[in-house]
Amino acid sequence: MQTDLVAALDIGGTKIAGALVDDHGRILLRAQRPTPAKEDGDTVMRAVEDVLRELTAAPLWVRAGAVGIGSAGPVDASTGTVSPVNVPGWRDFPLVDRVRAVTGGLPVELVGDGVAMTAAEHWQGAAQGHDNALCMVVSTGVGGGLILGGKLHPGPTGNAGHIGHISVDLDGDPCPCGARGCVERIASGPNIARRALDGGWRPGVDGDVSAAAVAAAARAGDKVAIASFERAAQALAAGIAATATLVEIDIAVIGGGVAKAGEVLFAPLRRSLRDYATLSFVQRLTVAPARMGTDAGLVGAAAAALTRDRDVSAL
Ligand SMILES: [Zn+2]
Repeated sequence: MQTDLVAALDIGGTKIAGALVDDHGRILLRAQRPTPAKEDGDTVMRAVEDVLRELTAAPLWVRAGAVGIGSAGPVDASTGTVSPVNVPGWRDFPLVDRVRAVTGGLPVELVGDGVAMTAAEHWQGAAQGHDNALCMVVSTGVGGGLILGGKLHPGPTGNAGHIGHISVDLDGDPCPCGARGCVERIASGPNIARRALDGGWRPGVDGDVSAAAVAAAARAGDKVAIASFERAAQALAAGIAATATLVEIDIAVIGGGVAKAGEVLFAPLRRSLRDYATLSFVQRLTVAPARMGTDAGLVGAAAAALTRDRDVSAL
């Protein structure tokens, strides 16, 4: 029997999604459960097993040759364990072994969710055709991943490209990671909203204090809202420029809820990049919105499994 499919898992703090994906990135079968994120580790794992059982019970399952997992981080691909910040029941949880046990011993590839999103954008999205790219998710947190030399670069533990925790403000606010002035501490959705509120912005009658509400206010001309997005864009630009200067990327792809702000974010981001990406070899760096949408995690986990020993152009 031909094994032309892979099983993909996208594990986050809200939902656990699974799918069977073919080598064109098409999703042939889906399963999903809410993440019981507040429960103990075995209860969370039972939700993963429920998703996998729906997949393994399908006639298509015989064509599955590997499993790809994109998980909220930190992950450790070298040990096959995960410790997602927002799933406290999982600390050094042996996810790879547990998944292998319910999938008949198939090879399992584990990457962080930022790396999975990057694999998806490189395979089918905005980073397609770019051999050197940084892809980012800017939402509740700021994650990312790297394509280098035409290949996904997960790093030894599956966390490479963690741009959210590069410091861009040496004496800046403490970050939950323990450092100071991290990109995430300035550019994540909650921090954009917090800074707008601190600056005197007030929500409308609906009381919505999300970054999306700040974006709407910015679009309507609210100066404090605009300034909060400009500051976030500046932090992102500094982090992107640092990455480009280090490893010579030619595109930065940005997805996640905050990127939905569109030009409210992208216009100041392009302006700020001119201030920070100054050397000749990074001046042509472009930024683009992500294209893969909500299936990026699943498609990216599939890509990571399909490309374990080869690059994406082989697909
Ligand atoms: Zn940090």
